[in-house]
Amino acid sequence: MNDLPLLAEEFRARLESASSVLVVSHLNPDGDAIGSSLAVSFYLDQLGIKHEVLNQNESPLNLRWMPGIDRLKTETRRKHEVAVVLDLNTFDRLGRVHDAVMATDSILLVDHHVPQDEIGDLRIVDQTAPATALILYRLFKQLGAEFTPKLATALLTGVVTDTGSFRFRNTTPEALTMAADLLAHGGELNRINEEVFGKRTLEGVLLMRKALDNMQLLRDNRLAMSVLRAEDFASIGAIENNTEGLVNELLSIDTAQIAVLLRQPSPERKVRASVRSREPFDVATALRPLGGGGHRNAAGVTFEVDIDTAEEQLVEVLSACLAASS
Ligand code: 5GP
Ligand code: MN
Repeated sequence: MNDLPLLAEEFRARLESASSVLVVSHLNPDGDAIGSSLAVSFYLDQLGIKHEVLNQNESPLNLRWMPGIDRLKTETRRKHEVAVVLDLNTFDRLGRVHDAVMATDSILLVDHHVPQDEIGDLRIVDQTAPATALILYRLFKQLGAEFTPKLATALLTGVVTDTGSFRFRNTTPEALTMAADLLAHGGELNRINEEVFGKRTLEGVLLMRKALDNMQLLRDNRLAMSVLRAEDFASIGAIENNTEGLVNELLSIDTAQIAVLLRQPSPERKVRASVRSREPFDVATALRPLGGGGHRNAAGVTFEVDIDTAEEQLVEVLSACLAASS
């Protein structure tokens, strides 16, 4: 991002030109989507700009402690002039907030995914950045934002969650430098780790037991897969949010190169899969034929078909992915 100073000025100028701004991120938001949304919200407060933070879904349970989380709304009735779209690369990932975004006059995108739908009039995209929050950090530094503890915590949440607390391969020197700076500004690193990685709901743990019980090991134990059906969720009283992090447990098996958690939380919900991989397996590319995507080692897909068909399709494309790179 050689043109950072120009992009940053343009970003601020466009925000300042608006009487009202809409801040959105992808459905089923994660720590980067929510951290980035709240960070932009705090920055807009500093500029004195009226705005709303919107998402199709409520915050996952493990982020409810975040300062400013009550700003996140799932409905809007107001019209906004400018939309800030964060952490997504396809329009369908906006879900129900799509229309509110399209009703604005201009869209500013900040993202770190491989560009797909080329969303936005002003596009600030860096696929090499480990988190959208890190791109925002660059912008806010450039723009002289005040790094208050809550702004620091919001940005730090984004980078900590998207790097798996600096364990994933996407962890860059810049991510660590940024984290050090945000920690110095009162970012609650310890709290983030405790809340996001050190705690699970009881329903989440019971669902993990179910997921381990249902687990299949395929392709010489290199593909770990578990399917959670609507009746599994119902028997525990669990919801979609309780699946957070389960797929990583499947990938922790030492022989597993690719792990999948396929689920349907209730009969009326679509079937969805979370997929994780070790190098050199690129699961974002592998899921493309099914309409999925994401990052090389962390991707997802939403199905229009039933869960058994989805399972067959997943086994097929992921087996091919394993075969191609081994
Ligand atoms: P998760 O498994 O944590 O829900 O998603 C991991 C990553 O996969 C996300 O950051 C996102 O980039 C991508 N992803 C998740 N679900 C979908 C989906 O339904 N469609 C597409 N295209 N990408 C998804
Ligand atoms: Mn992200």
